[in-house]
Amino acid sequence: MIRLNDITSIILSYNPNANINLIEKAYVFSAKVHKGQVRLSGEPYLSHPLEVSGILASMKTDEITVVSGLLHDTVEDTLTELSEIEYLFGKEVARIVDGVTKISKIKFVSKEEQQAENIRKMILAMATDIRVLLVKLADRLHNMQTLGYQPSEKQEKIARETLDIYAPLAGRMGIFWMKSRLEDLSLYYLEPKIYSDIRLGIAQRHEGQERFIKEIRDILSEKLKEVGINATIKGRHKHFYSIYQKMMDQNLNINQVYDIIAFRIIVSTVKECYETLGLIHSLWKPVSGRFKDYISLPKANMYQSLHTSLITSLGERMEIQIRTWDMDKIAEEGIAAHWMYKEGKFPEKGSTSQYAWIGKLLEWQKSLVDPREFLETVKLDLFSSEVYVFTPKGEVKEFPKDATPVDFAYSIHSEIGDRCVGAKVNERIVPLNYRLKNGDVVQIITSKNSNPSRDWLSFVKTSTARTRIRQWIKKEEREESIAIGKNILEKDLRKYHINVLKQPNNEQLLDVANKFSLKTVDDLMASIGYGKISSKQILNRLLDREEVEGEKQEGLVQKIVHKIQRKREHKGITIKGMSDMLIRFGKCCSPLPGEEIVGYITRGRGITIHQKDCSYIKGADPDRLIDAEWETSEGITYVARLRITNISKKGMLADVSAIFSQNEANIIDADVHTTIDKKAISSFTIEVADYNQLKNIISRIKSIKEVLKVERM
Ligand code: MN
Repeated sequence: MIRLNDITSIILSYNPNANINLIEKAYVFSAKVHKGQVRLSGEPYLSHPLEVSGILASMKTDEITVVSGLLHDTVEDTLTELSEIEYLFGKEVARIVDGVTKISKIKFVSKEEQQAENIRKMILAMATDIRVLLVKLADRLHNMQTLGYQPSEKQEKIARETLDIYAPLAGRMGIFWMKSRLEDLSLYYLEPKIYSDIRLGIAQRHEGQERFIKEIRDILSEKLKEVGINATIKGRHKHFYSIYQKMMDQNLNINQVYDIIAFRIIVSTVKECYETLGLIHSLWKPVSGRFKDYISLPKANMYQSLHTSLITSLGERMEIQIRTWDMDKIAEEGIAAHWMYKEGKFPEKGSTSQYAWIGKLLEWQKSLVDPREFLETVKLDLFSSEVYVFTPKGEVKEFPKDATPVDFAYSIHSEIGDRCVGAKVNERIVPLNYRLKNGDVVQIITSKNSNPSRDWLSFVKTSTARTRIRQWIKKEEREESIAIGKNILEKDLRKYHINVLKQPNNEQLLDVANKFSLKTVDDLMASIGYGKISSKQILNRLLDREEVEGEKQEGLVQKIVHKIQRKREHKGITIKGMSDMLIRFGKCCSPLPGEEIVGYITRGRGITIHQKDCSYIKGADPDRLIDAEWETSEGITYVARLRITNISKKGMLADVSAIFSQNEANIIDADVHTTIDKKAISSFTIEVADYNQLKNIISRIKSIKEVLKVERM
């Protein structure tokens, strides 16, 4: 068991100014709360947090991370409250411990690739501080190292989880030594037979391999020396898991895998990397398609290197990686390499260039001048545009940010979406527009008689949900329109003693439908219902004449049309391709001539005219919007109402009236009151020809000094 002294001396070796008091305090606290707890190995529980912080110290992390390692299990496994941790060790430590605790609560169920990727992403998204992941990885590494004490089913489950989730997570963060170790430990428990085959195979070939390594290294160092490159050459067998993967991919046994040795050449500069590559390619034959330049195109986790594969004179394949010392450090330590202390000091401010490209790569917009600042401010927002939640069965689902339970319901099944009436998140009822958060467990409440609502369109985030809701609304409106259309037509036809509607699939009606370029009788009925076609037009077609002349009995729609037209003469509006339409003005926006307008086909009630930017129109079904324009005809006036608020003054009414008359607007009605605070509020109803005239009037009134505001009502 590692001792506290070992840990503090590691830390002091790279950070002489570390707050050792805090580490000792955490040690004492951890020992106190874990007292009496025992690991399966029989060791006191404290050995686990100690080993974890030892791993963290070996990664040269800051003291906050090491302290968090000592405390990482206190909230989950003892009676300690998070607030206690915060009080004693500060906000940062508390946040890290909290993050580690949360991750350990994630349920891992499905083993599909996709699922594993989602969980990795979710962990990244949940861990708002990189140090949370470092502690979690160190925790997992020690648990894997002591997995032998667990019962065998548990061994397999944990090893599988490590291979699926944590090893790739370490890889994603670029911490390759951790990734390899986690993979090899997992392989040991998941495929014990193959693991021992590989170990044996490597051991048997040990001597030959050593000779091979020496031979290659001798050739290389001599040639490199000739061209003046000072290089370090390492040759070692690849880690077991990568050999295992090769065996699986190519269906080989260990004795058939030849290139188990990989070489690494470390040089001083990027230029030397490419020079070395050229030299190697002149010595041995490169395998085509195996050269990769990660120096000019680094991986997202900052990895840089040149990779090449060659055929030796003995006909054996070997892989060589070429990189600089800096690149080598990043390759081994990943993100961690960037906050490591150099000789106990942080890098000088200004030495930003080595950090700048990371910022670019990871799209972290922060300047990474100071590694401490880097640590504290870097949020893992690589996946912040996504949110990961669970089904009650523990399956992970991925959604765009701000997605709601309705999106969730539709992602499961369109039927569940359509019937969704409520949702429970983490066992509590939430509104349907609740915004899902990472790690939420979502359960949908459905009801057989429930249907989608138009309101949902204002908050759903996925296109699946949106499309499905729109479809439903459209379908429902169509059904309703068909019913209304049938109703209208039936009433009108009755007067002519025609009852074509009684005969289903009536050919006469189908014929009429085709004449209107419609495919079915239902389409025709829907058009009547929407008000796109009048029943009169259909009558004309049915009776095969141009006009129903001398029509004494008006149809329902015509009746309303005439009634309104009588009341309000001509509306001065043309609707694209249609005449004789029932037109009304939206009460919401009362458009005036000159303003941009649009028609909205209401169900069975003709067309309502709205301002083009009226909020009512914005949520409307685009299929029901129709182009409309003002007819320019003279002598038509429109009524507008204005409310003017002004500081009370004599002669105000006269001034305003003058503006109206100068602009040739008739005043129909006027009403003025004075408020206690010496303000006057006047309402005017005036007649104007168009919007421009009204605009002029409003701006003239606004230019009067005492006027505070002019509103159109
Ligand atoms: Mn632990």
